[in-house]
Order: sequence, then structure tokens, then C-alpha cells
Amino acid sequence: MLTIEEAQARILDDVPRVRSEDVPIDQAYGRWLAEPLVALDSLPPWDNSSMDGYAVRAADLAGASADNPVSLTLLETIGAGSWPSQAVRSGTASAAMTGAPMPQGADCIVMIEDTDGAREGAVQVRVAPHVGQHIRPAGDDVKKGTTVIARGTRLGPMQIGLASALGYGRLAVARRPRVVILSTGDEVVPPGRPLAPGQIWSSNNASLIGLAREAGVEVIDGGIVPDTFEATVKALRDAVGLGVDAVITTGGVSVGEFDYVKDAIAGLGGRVEFWKVKMKPGKPLAFGRVGKVPLFGLPGNPVSCIVNFLQFVRPWLLACMGASRSFLPVVDAIAGEDLREKPGRFSLMRVRLTSKDGRFVATSAGNPSSGAMLSMSRAHGFALFADTSTGAKAGDAVRVQLIDASFMDGYGPDYGW
Ligand code: AMP
Ligand code: MG
Repeated sequence: MLTIEEAQARILDDVPRVRSEDVPIDQAYGRWLAEPLVALDSLPPWDNSSMDGYAVRAADLAGASADNPVSLTLLETIGAGSWPSQAVRSGTASAAMTGAPMPQGADCIVMIEDTDGAREGAVQVRVAPHVGQHIRPAGDDVKKGTTVIARGTRLGPMQIGLASALGYGRLAVARRPRVVILSTGDEVVPPGRPLAPGQIWSSNNASLIGLAREAGVEVIDGGIVPDTFEATVKALRDAVGLGVDAVITTGGVSVGEFDYVKDAIAGLGGRVEFWKVKMKPGKPLAFGRVGKVPLFGLPGNPVSCIVNFLQFVRPWLLACMGASRSFLPVVDAIAGEDLREKPGRFSLMRVRLTSKDGRFVATSAGNPSSGAMLSMSRAHGFALFADTSTGAKAGDAVRVQLIDASFMDGYGPDYGW
């Protein structure tokens, strides 16, 4: 049986890269940047005022104070969005609002609050400023020619904001891979429909569709396939026929009497590259190909299929999109209680996290069964235990793979803000 690392290496070997496409920047959210983003100009592009105030020459105001204000002749008012028409000479000043370009000759800004305001074409200044004060110099934020976002970075609101500030109306991003997600099982019924005896509602369609969308890919819901060889072959053939980048199935990959996914791959002339991974949950993963299309046969147990998606499918999808990092982040934590585990397989234990005294603290999220959705829904991450591990004792160091960082929300006041 393959280890989790071996299975990941097999899956991530030779991943086909999707082509890139140019999209309007308002559609770039959550996409992966396909080319390095280079600043074509500096930011800010010219020296400008960071305060509502007056652009002056510091030397004129060397002796100014509240008791001894200095009067300067006012030339003009420069608002943000206008351009200065006059140079500031000795004995003069121009009003310059926040964001206004600096006029020639001026070397600093005094705040409106440090003056008596403008009266009869002059302004009384009550402070002695220093050169450069309240000026945002050209290129202070970004220098022209700098690569500001590396290729393979996921574009979130801040990256899109930066690209916008640099004038990009469109961005080159990886095309979204398209995947089909389908469940197998005679017992499985879409939620909202009545159940016959022995039937259950499908959770896997919904959770996998959500996970795939979060990964930034386009999803086709292939619905639910009955447990027959013929139906499974037809569903996989139809899915592959859609020209998708990958097919994801759940259920029907164990050793049960109605588990047809592996046979169906073979029946379509495809091959199963490996089956079963030495991990818990998620052992009966099958990975194969029909033609060139990879097929991820995830187990039916709701938590197993989520775990397998996150460890194998998500990295594959991200690699397709050229992501520079394709695995979930792992943080060091302390076990907040005994986290017992049976050795034998690499284990991913659902845990909740808190933050205390500068450290993450992990406690069990509840029922470790591979079918237990409540503990899955409450977990912030997976504590990772090697196949030889018996778990962690309270106070031991544990590594936790993060799946949900919302536990960090609301910590502000605890830090004394
Ligand atoms: P299987 O891998 O098909 O043997 O299924 C393993 C377990 O997962 C069984 O208890 C199934 O009823 C359950 N299961 C399979 N598919 C789904 C699904 N789409 N949603 C929820 N549970 C499922
Ligand atoms: Mg089944």
C-alpha cells in the first residue's frame, strides 16, 4: 500500500498545465496569476501630499512657532486630481490637499491644523517643518519595473487592489479546470427528496462541489449513479466525454459487492494506477485514467472523501493552475488534551484550534469515525500523526494542517487591542 507521500507524488507527477486567459480584473478574484505582474509605473507615480495642508519651503519657516507665526503668500489650491500650475518660491505656499501632486520648489507640507488658515491671499504658519515632511515620494510604495505579484499566486482582494492601483484592467490567469463530481450508491438520494427505507441523503456531492469551487475550479454536478457496472461505465464515459480536466467520484471503490468504479475504469479501457493509501481516514482511494483524463475515485464515507479531496485532488487542481503552493498550510500547535491514536496508518485527526499565550492549542473536534460529519464540520484542521504514532499527550507538540482559519477571527481583544 502506498504512503500518503508516495500517493501524492504519483498524482502530482507530470500534471498537465491549463492554458492562461486574460480576464477583466473584477473577474480575477480567486484565480491564479499566470504571468508575473510587473509595475509599469511607480506607485505613487509622483511626489504628493499625504495631508491636507500647504506645500512650502522648510527654510522659509525655520523660526516659525505659535508665538511667532510666519506669513506666506498663497499661490493656488491644488486638489487631488489637479496638477500644480506654479512653482513655490521663497515666501510663498500653495494649498495642497491629500493626494495632490507636489508643486515644484516646495520641499514639505505643513498640516492645515498647524496654520491659521488662508486669509486675504496669505497663510500664517505656526510650526517649523522639516524637509520631506508629509510628502509621499514617487515610488515610495512600488518602484517602476518591480515584480509585485509572482506567477502562481492566488489573487485575493489585496492582490487585486494592488493590480488595480497599478492600472491593470485585465489580468492573465490560469483557465479554470472543469471537473465532474459524481456520487455512486443505490442508497444515496439528493437532500430535500424523500427517503425510501435504507436510503440516506448525499452529503458528498455538496461538500465536494464546495471544496472544488473553493479551489477555484468549475464544477459539473454529475449527480448520483446507481450501483451497477453498466450505470457506472456509462456515467464515467459521459463524464469523460464532456471534455473535462478530471473526473471525481465518491463511493464504490472498496471491496464490497457493489463497488464498480475500478471495474468501470478498466471496462472503459482505462487503467487504475493505484488503489488504497496507508492513511486514516481515506484508505480506499483509487487513482486512474481514462484516456488522458485523470479519475479520482474517492471513498464514499463523507469524511474520507473530504480528506482525500484535500490531500490529493486539491493539490492536483492547484498544480494544474500553476499554483506556486499546492498543499494546505501546516502549523505547529500544542495538544490541549490527550489526542489518542492507534498506530498502523498515517492519521489525520479532526481538531479544533484556539490561540493561547502565543501558541495554537489543538483539541479533538469529536467523533473520529470516517462517516462523522459533525466533527468534520467543527474541525479547524487535521492533527497529523505518522503511522507509528500513538498520538499526542496533553502538552505535546503536534502539527496541524489548517482547513479553516476562522478560529483566528475575533482574537483582537485578547491581544490587548
Ligand atoms: P462506499 O465507499 O460506496 O462503500 O460507501 C461507504 C459509506 O459511505 C457507506 O456508508 C455509504 O452509504 C456512504 N456514502 C457513499 N456515498 C455517499 C454520499 N454521496 N453521501 C453520503 N454518504 C455516502
Ligand atoms: Mg457504495
